[in-house]
Amino acid sequence: MKVTLVGAGPGSIGLLTVKGLETLQRADVVLYDRFVSGDILAVIPDSAEMINVGKYAGNHPVPQNVINNLLLEKARQGKNVVRLKGGDPFVFARGGEELEFLSENNIPFEVVPGVTSAVAAAAYAGIPLTHRDCASSFHVITAHAKNNEALNINFDALVKLDGTLIFLMGVSVIDIICERCINAGMDKDMPAAIVENAAVNSQRKFLGTITALPEIVRANNVKSPAVIIIGKVCQFSTRCDWFGQKYLPLRGKRVVVTRVKHGMSELIDNLRELGCYVVEIPCLRIAPLTGSGSALEKSLKNIKGYSWLIFTSCAGVNVFFDYLIDTCIDIRELSGVRIACVGAGTEKELNKRGITVDYVPAEYNGAALAHGLAELVKDGERALILRAKDGDKELTRLLIDAGIDFDDVPVYEKVKDTAVVSIDADAIADNKFDFAAFTSPSAVECFAEVAVCANFSEIKAVCIGEKTAAAAMSYGMDVYVSTDATAESMVEKIKELSA
Ligand code: SAH
Repeated sequence: MKVTLVGAGPGSIGLLTVKGLETLQRADVVLYDRFVSGDILAVIPDSAEMINVGKYAGNHPVPQNVINNLLLEKARQGKNVVRLKGGDPFVFARGGEELEFLSENNIPFEVVPGVTSAVAAAAYAGIPLTHRDCASSFHVITAHAKNNEALNINFDALVKLDGTLIFLMGVSVIDIICERCINAGMDKDMPAAIVENAAVNSQRKFLGTITALPEIVRANNVKSPAVIIIGKVCQFSTRCDWFGQKYLPLRGKRVVVTRVKHGMSELIDNLRELGCYVVEIPCLRIAPLTGSGSALEKSLKNIKGYSWLIFTSCAGVNVFFDYLIDTCIDIRELSGVRIACVGAGTEKELNKRGITVDYVPAEYNGAALAHGLAELVKDGERALILRAKDGDKELTRLLIDAGIDFDDVPVYEKVKDTAVVSIDADAIADNKFDFAAFTSPSAVECFAEVAVCANFSEIKAVCIGEKTAAAAMSYGMDVYVSTDATAESMVEKIKELSA
């Protein structure tokens, strides 16, 4: 029994600490805040209870005493409780109050610090917070007054410090902040910056002086969450920029990706690396079909009866090898069996397990695989196809045509997981994205279910293959098919369409 305060960092999972990740993966209950991103929530095990305490009822967040009592109640049930907060839990996040309360109630606790948005915003805006020539300190200030009273900040003292000033929760009072800095004697041309959605690919940064910044903020409709940075160091922002449009070809683009929950996604990683803002819909789940009495169990009893194993996806490889481990089947049972697969990703997954694949067609589709196998499989040899339920019928049809004997064994199915914990529902409902990227027909189905209000005919759907394209077309989407059935090829298509 313990409560751990975990700092989630300012945005996506990359800036969560390793300890924070490990703590989340062991959680029984997670109470999370408003600004915690979906990819962080997605690493929390399905078995954990998720409580969104950042939800606004009317216009009010869940009251602190309700949160405290929930922490207490869950901890007293003997659970591993995680209190997950944006940024760092001790920076304007009431972490101290929660710990005081837990301490009074003799509940053990721990704190995992997080990257505060104050520091992350500067890093992602190319603003060094200190600099030997012009800033020997930095100061983080809340612009949110308790009970909405007037700002109680000693601007005279702050301005005298001559360091870098960082204001959190300040968008709505930026006029007052800048004006009070000037009144306290700060140069009216002091460089200043505002960073909205810092450290995520939807980040926007605006530079100016303390005189000009309030108007810039209004003109560009800058919204919370944003960090205001005031000081000479802001002059370096243009020169030290590395997160701007010109360095990241897909910066400013928003792409919706329906993906497998808890699964890795090369597509998402690649898109993010190029600066895309990815709206993830983690609503598919791989459900192994490997229980007792399964087709896989039966076929493995006679593994020596097969000359070829055929994999068509990474998930198929993972489920198959997990099954061997779980049921203590020695990998040497596979000796002598030849292995074929479709796709570079699937091949990589097999390579990781020490297997050099005997045949991978140059083209990533079932038809190419069938044609290749027709040349390779000898008379009297039998193949075992280990793939998803309801797999592509063309592969089996062509194998039959080629006179190849095989068993088609479903080892998993992709099922819809309706317990989607967090999605950027507004972005989806309002079609506030440039592309939707689909890697399977079931991904299209899931999207259509979540995005009930979307206007499908306006959606540019980038699809991995013809089957997926057909599914997207059935909803009337504007469909584009990647040249190859790979994540890289899909990214290339998105780049091409964005150019
Ligand atoms: N504990 C948090 C701060 C919570 S107060 C931390 O350490 O970052 C909430 C304020 O944090 C917001 O009003 C905004 O000023 C800032 N903030 C949080 N996430 C942000 C982000 N991704 N980009 C810009 N500002 C952010």
